[in-house]
Amino acid sequence: MKAQDISREKSAELFEKAKKYFPGGVNSPVRAFKSVYGTPLFIEKGDKAHLWDADGNEFIDFCCSWGPLILGHNHPAIREAVQAQLGKGLSFGAPTLLENELAELILSNNKYIEKIRFVSSGTEAVMSAIRLARGYTKRDKIVKFEGCYHGHSDSLLVKAGSGLVTFGETSSAGVPKAFADETIVISLNDKKALEQVFVDFKDQIAAVIIEGVPANNGLLIQDKEYIHFLREITKAHGTLLIFDEVITGFRLGFEGAAKYYDIQPDIITYGKIIGGGMPVGAYGASAEIMSNISPDGAVYQAGTLSGNPVAMAAGIAALQVLAQPGFYEKLEKTTQQFVEEIRSFVTEKNYEVKIFTVGSIFWFAFTAQEKIQSAEQIDPASMEKYKVMHRELLNRGIYFGPSGYEVGFISAAHTEEDLNKAVTAIKEALMVTF
Ligand code: PLP
Repeated sequence: MKAQDISREKSAELFEKAKKYFPGGVNSPVRAFKSVYGTPLFIEKGDKAHLWDADGNEFIDFCCSWGPLILGHNHPAIREAVQAQLGKGLSFGAPTLLENELAELILSNNKYIEKIRFVSSGTEAVMSAIRLARGYTKRDKIVKFEGCYHGHSDSLLVKAGSGLVTFGETSSAGVPKAFADETIVISLNDKKALEQVFVDFKDQIAAVIIEGVPANNGLLIQDKEYIHFLREITKAHGTLLIFDEVITGFRLGFEGAAKYYDIQPDIITYGKIIGGGMPVGAYGASAEIMSNISPDGAVYQAGTLSGNPVAMAAGIAALQVLAQPGFYEKLEKTTQQFVEEIRSFVTEKNYEVKIFTVGSIFWFAFTAQEKIQSAEQIDPASMEKYKVMHRELLNRGIYFGPSGYEVGFISAAHTEEDLNKAVTAIKEALMVTF
């Protein structure tokens, strides 16, 4: 049975006001709820796995600020670390002990990178990694995959043209065609296309970039064998392999997707969890590759707020919790149990829903296909079903991301009670959807 719509009066009022100030009323497009029912909810506070909006509605949060909040909202260790730093200063534009501490925590738990550079967002991390790859290889072209998102820098706002291997077409106005011409876009999970790209552009490709596990256009879990092939072919051509681990870094463990595949990428980018909820990004590689960055190397990259002390303090506090033995095993087990309960229900009901999952990431796909491994396999019409489910879930106090292409996250703050409530709500929402 359909649930009664929650009150959105205050949120709707605030959204009208926001539209006067911000394009589309928001500071990041997906927040506008364009792909789902109704106006965006204005959030007032979060605690553990719960959110409260301006109308006083309470939700169990499975968006988790799009990934950073692996410990949930208002975690005491992070809050205390931030509060302690506030009394000492917000920003110095000079080196601090905190940067060393966060770097040490990361590097001593991650054998895939030797040096790291902190920036302030995932976009910045990827943009800098691409420049580093180009500077290091002295080549210009990069290869990305359709369906992978790497932030909003010019070279990466490019989508596939038609054909096996094509120059990309800009996916945003304002990106010069000349930039898009340096980015080649191919399909995920397509060995032939990968081989062809190295035939067509033999010694011109600086880097191939892929999301650790693509999680921005559904959760497109790649075969391990394909990723190993990607490693071999890039190595054979002197092309750097960049793993964009802005989502998977510290989500699948300290060593992220690199360990998951048992692969040594050349450069790895991080964001989200690394800042404990504060704006931080980072990129890392071998000492040799990183020596090409300014001030010692010729690849320029800088930032007024890079390594910001408050953000570093939050990151350290978060990673100290994640480094505790058994943290990831427990979170993954919880996720599996949650997903399995829903899977049994949809099987029993014969609904065309698959729940794909890796680590503590999950994605509901309205499909009969057993696997979805490339953007082209997703039927846009299936998003209508997500829209119905999303409305029903919100009305039952469950907050999923406002687009069917977005994945969900389980945090360590989700209790058994939260998850049981969510399972019941999801079952009810699916019964309305189908
Ligand atoms: N790379 C990946 C894989 C992402 O998921 C994102 C953001 O969602 C980015 C890069 C960009 O990060 P940010 O939004 O912090 O700029």
